[in-house]
Amino acid sequence: MRLSRFFLPTLKEDPKEAQIVSHRLMLRAGMIQQSSAGIYSWLPMGFRVLKNIERIVREEQDRAGALEILMPTLQPADLWRESGRYDDYGKEMLRITDRHERDMLYGPTNEEQVTDIFRSHVKSYKNLPLNLYHIQWKFRDEVRPRFGIMRGREFLMKDAYSFDLDYGGAKTAYNNMFVAYLKTFARLGLKAIPLRAETGPIGGDLSHEFIVLADTGESEVFYHKDLLTLETPEKDNYSATELQEIVDQWTSYYAAADDMHDPENCDVSAGDLVSRRGIEVGHIFHFGDKYSKAMGAAVAGPDGKDVTVSMGSYGIGVSRLVGGIIEASHDDDGIIWPESVAPFKVGLINLKSGDDACDAACEDFYGKLKTATVEVLYDDTAGRAGEKFAKMDLIGLPWQATIGPRGVKAGMVEVKNRSTGEKQELSVDAALELLVGRG
Ligand code: ATP
Ligand code: MG
Repeated sequence: MRLSRFFLPTLKEDPKEAQIVSHRLMLRAGMIQQSSAGIYSWLPMGFRVLKNIERIVREEQDRAGALEILMPTLQPADLWRESGRYDDYGKEMLRITDRHERDMLYGPTNEEQVTDIFRSHVKSYKNLPLNLYHIQWKFRDEVRPRFGIMRGREFLMKDAYSFDLDYGGAKTAYNNMFVAYLKTFARLGLKAIPLRAETGPIGGDLSHEFIVLADTGESEVFYHKDLLTLETPEKDNYSATELQEIVDQWTSYYAAADDMHDPENCDVSAGDLVSRRGIEVGHIFHFGDKYSKAMGAAVAGPDGKDVTVSMGSYGIGVSRLVGGIIEASHDDDGIIWPESVAPFKVGLINLKSGDDACDAACEDFYGKLKTATVEVLYDDTAGRAGEKFAKMDLIGLPWQATIGPRGVKAGMVEVKNRSTGEKQELSVDAALELLVGRG
């Protein structure tokens, strides 16, 4: 992509409305534009990152055996009357009346909708276990939308729903998602730690929030320092026993958010206990027959008798992750994208656009990267060198390749790693090998 043909409305100054670094950098890097409070348009740079995150989340859900569907954003109120949540949900729910005076709502989540799909079609235990997920926009009329897309009113969520015959099956489904989340966040370049979360009136130990550590996080978290040294599971198709072992290992260390942290009963020594702030990027939850019972989702069990299915739900804040990754990975100059989600892998800087030799060398290099299917943003504009470097640092592409009059004569390209800051003078071939070969 040529920058001269791209749509990248960057800002030089910090926008006043942004209180935290990710919001500031997203606005400055031309990623989003506010439409109204907590509602945003995604501009090309932001959209590319959002799609990359979505792709990784999807791949890991698929790999875990969940099946993708797509449920609508608008739902009939009657489904929520069945579960009792139409009245309980309160003002966060955006309620809409259609032209026939039918009550509708913009879905804040999809338990009712997916339970309705399940009960209409699944009648036998033989079709279990089942896990259905979708990646769809949600609306919650948050009292205080803030921090840009981190706490929006409209936001993109991956939500999966598992259906099992009994608690044992549901627990394996839960563990399976737990492990899929560890893999997902690792691929996104994040250290996400699972915290025991409030299970509400249903009780039990099966609810975890996944938290990314960042100074601007909304909640304070306490955890045993060794939690961050655990290896992320990598294999496919773990057995139920293996899944349980992994979950046991990850949950054997103390980890709790402030609302669950109890200094009196925390047996971690002061030297091992770390307290940081964190951002919730995922939440998994086993809730048993809460919806299946209220909505009559039952299947015939092996003995022919009806069994109300046991369910869980598993959310990931896809759009929140864009901000979460920036919070976890930036410096004073701008964003530092992990390669897996970067909008482009390489930023190519022409130090002297208009100079025949520089233009020709850049065109050649640009063409070769594209041929090798490396995603590259080529700054072919007439800006000053300093401005070009600052813009590249701001938008945070993992690699910068710079070609200027001096390098052209020597046949050299300067390659900079955005994350380490390390710069290398390389021949064109060596630069290509480095940029094509990686990732
Ligand atoms: P929070 O405690 O942050 O309000 P929640 O517990 O209400 O979130 P869940 O219902 O668990 O959220 O939703 C699953 C995921 O969706 C969350 O882990 C979070 O990453 C994301 N999410 C929730 N609310 C928002 C929001 N207003 N804006 C962006 N992402 C959100
Ligand atoms: Mg939550």
